[in-house]
Parts: sequence; C-alpha cells; structure tokens
Amino acid sequence: MLSPSSDSPADDVIRALADVADLVVVPHTRLADLTTLRIGGRPRALVECRAAEAVTAAVGALDAAGVPVLVLGGGSNLVVAGGDLDLVVVAVRNREIDYRTVEAGGAEAGGAEAGDGDTGPGGIVVRAGAGLTWDELVADTVARGYGGLECLSGIPGSVGATPVQNVGAYGVEVAQVLHRVRWFDRATGTDEWVSPGALGLAYRTSVLKNADRAVVLEVEFRLDAAGRSEPIRYAELAGRLGVTPGERTDPAVVRRTVLELRRGKGMVLDDDDEDTWSAGSFFTNPVVREGDLPTVRSRVADRLGVEQAEQMPAFPAAAGGVKLSAGWLIERAGFSKGHPSSSSPARLSTKHTLALTNRGSATADDVIALAREVRDGVRQAFGVELHPEPVWVGCSI
Ligand SMILES: Cc1cc2nc3c(=O)[nH]c(=O)nc-3n(C[C@H](O)[C@H](O)[C@H](O)COP(=O)(O)OP(=O)(O)OC[C@H]3O[C@@H](n4cnc5c(N)ncnc54)[C@H](O)[C@@H]3O)c2cc1C
Repeated sequence: MLSPSSDSPADDVIRALADVADLVVVPHTRLADLTTLRIGGRPRALVECRAAEAVTAAVGALDAAGVPVLVLGGGSNLVVAGGDLDLVVVAVRNREIDYRTVEAGGAEAGGAEAGDGDTGPGGIVVRAGAGLTWDELVADTVARGYGGLECLSGIPGSVGATPVQNVGAYGVEVAQVLHRVRWFDRATGTDEWVSPGALGLAYRTSVLKNADRAVVLEVEFRLDAAGRSEPIRYAELAGRLGVTPGERTDPAVVRRTVLELRRGKGMVLDDDDEDTWSAGSFFTNPVVREGDLPTVRSRVADRLGVEQAEQMPAFPAAAGGVKLSAGWLIERAGFSKGHPSSSSPARLSTKHTLALTNRGSATADDVIALAREVRDGVRQAFGVELHPEPVWVGCSI
C-alpha cells in the first residue's frame, strides 16, 4: 500500500479533474464510511460524479495515467482492506429517471435510440442513471403502477451495480427484466448502449464482476404497463401472498411482502440494526455436479442422519449442475445464527447465517477470519466449496 499523501501520477489527474463539470473531489475519506460492511481504509481521493459524462472523464483520465480505480455505487457488495489504499474511488452518482412507452414491435416512442431487447407491444421501458439508489427506482416504478422490479425490492446499492452481479432475490434476477445497458468501455474509451447478451449474465455474475472492463452509466429495464408483477416463482413468497407459484399479482402487494420478508432476515439496510451491517449474502449458493450430489447427501447423512440428507435443498442449475443452499449447509455444519459470540466484532447475523456482520469495531481481518472459518467448516463437514459473493479490494479470503 502507498501513502495517499506521497506524490504520484494520481495527484496530477485529481487536480485536473477538479475542473470537470458535475464532479467533486473529496480529499479525505474512508471506505468504512462508504460501505455497508463499514470497513475499509483511506483511498487517495474520492471523486463524486453527478453526470455520466463526469464518470467517463474521471475514469478515462485515471485509466490513461495508470491510476488504480475503484468504481463505487452504494458500497453494499464490497470487502475493503484497511489502511492507506493506492487507488482513487470514482463514485457514480448520476440519478435521472425517464419512462418511455414502447410501441407494438419494439420501437420506442419519445426519441430513444433503437432498442435491442424484446419489450413486447405496449410495454414501458424505464431508463435510470447508474448512481440512482436501486430501491428508489423500484419504489418509483411500483408507485406508478408498473410491474417487473417488485421482487427485487429492498436490495441495497445502486442501479448501475445491478447488472454487475446480476442481482436477484425471491425468484427474479435482473437478467429477466434488463433491456439495455449504457457503458463506458475502459479498453476502447467508447460510450455505448449494449444489449443484455453482451454482459454474460449468469448466477450472481457477469463480464463486469471482478473486472475493470467497463463502467455502467445508465440502465434500461422492461416493465409491465398493465401493472402485473413478474410471475411469483419463490415458494416462500407465493405462500405469503397466497398465490399459486407462477401467478402474477399486484406489484405493490409483492413489494410490501418482500420488504417484510427481507426485514425479518436483516436484509434491508437499517442504521439501528447491526444485523444489516453486512455485504448481504456472503457466499453464493454452491453449484455441484449432478454426479457429486449422492456423495454430498451421504456426507450429510453421516453427520446428521438420513432424514436431513433427504431434506437437503437441491435445485437444478445451469449446465446440468445442482444448486445447494449455502445457508442450510452453514447451519448444518455447526455455525448457528450469531456465531461465534455476542462479544465478537465480526459475527454471523442473528437473523440469517448467510450474512457476515460487523458489530461496529470489526476490521477486514476479522471478517476474513470468520469467512475462512465458515468456508473451511462447510468444506470439512460436507466436501462442498463455498465461494464469496462480494468483491474484494486489497484483500481476499
Ligand atoms: C443487507 C444487504 C442485502 C443484500 N441483498 C441482496 C440480494 O437480495 N440480492 C443480491 O443480488 N445482492 C444483494 N446484496 C448485495 C448488493 O446489495 C448488490 O450486489 C448491489 O447490486 C451492489 O450495489 P452497490 O451499488 O452497492 O455496489 P458496490 O458495492 O458499490 O460495488 C460492487 C461492485 O460493483 C462495481 N460497480 C458498482 N457500480 C458500478 C458501475 N456503475 N459500473 C461498473 N461497476 C460498478 C464495483 O466496482 C464493485 O466491483 C445485499 C447487500 C446487503 C448489504
């Protein structure tokens, strides 16, 4: 790590950026104040960009000078090392929202560029600045009576980060409702609209995750103008709503119900609830080969009995794989809610074993030690490898 006060090419670029419109350079800052896990050291500077053009100017100039950049949205999917960080944080803060009606055949009224995605006749497309808070967008679409985003209510962070890990919850992923993305390609310096196909969207990943390939500037989503939710696929949500799985219903009721369910699991940010001081689910649900499933079940049976082994959740996944539940495996490996103790600075949420939380004084090392303990414990118990979901900056598990 270099000292942010030492002279570097970054200083010249940062000085020059101060003249760019819609851009503010904030010299002394800590990532602990900008991340939901509340850990992270001091970058060389924070550059806040309130327009897409300011983002491209900042990232373009820093890339040209070879200065390491951390593109920041809401900081809700980051684990950042402490100390002095040799990087400049570019915070994406453009927040505009614009709705367009889509005519039959997919042409957009209102002067938009031609769309690539199939919006169907009489649909609505919403375009949002990457820096807008995601849940503000969801709330706005639902308040206008449009369906599509309601199952993704309450996910922290920015609009621009949603395609980065193809965010998902309660049976819906961004990939299902994404129309187009405007990105700044950092290799070519091009500012362009791309279709979802260019993003390589898959379970909690895309070509943008853990890569410096492009910065998302704006995102368009397809909405249901008739006010129907996405089909309700998640059994727990369908049960709460009293609908048959696959049915569509009122987006406002779905949003309310999803927020209730999420709050119960500590998955809605709340300054007064330390169970939400996290990066959300810390591990993705592991996908194993179908042929390996009997071995996992027999390891579960050896440890917990045949009944538990039969009840272990397992769902079909892409490429013939089987998706297991990380939370279920963590609990059955012996890590209960709140592990290791109420006095530990980093501990599992008391509401949800999948969230690693900072109780106020945890460092990155505390979080990493807990993450390793859980990952290694699950591997030892069941032979299943857990992979972290957040992006790591200056540290790793
Ligand atoms: C309590 C809680 C609950 C959560 N629940 C869910 C959930 O249900 N489902 C889910 O999928 N996730 C969930 N998450 C994880 C997180 O909210 C999402 O991944 C979210 O999309 C991250 O957005 P962000 O703006 O905070 O990204 P950040 O944490 O700021 O950044 C994450 C990564 O995206 C990159 N990035 C950010 N903005 C851009 C941009 N404009 N262009 C290019 N790259 C960018 C960053 O460089 C970084 O690599 C949860 C997190 C918390 C704390």
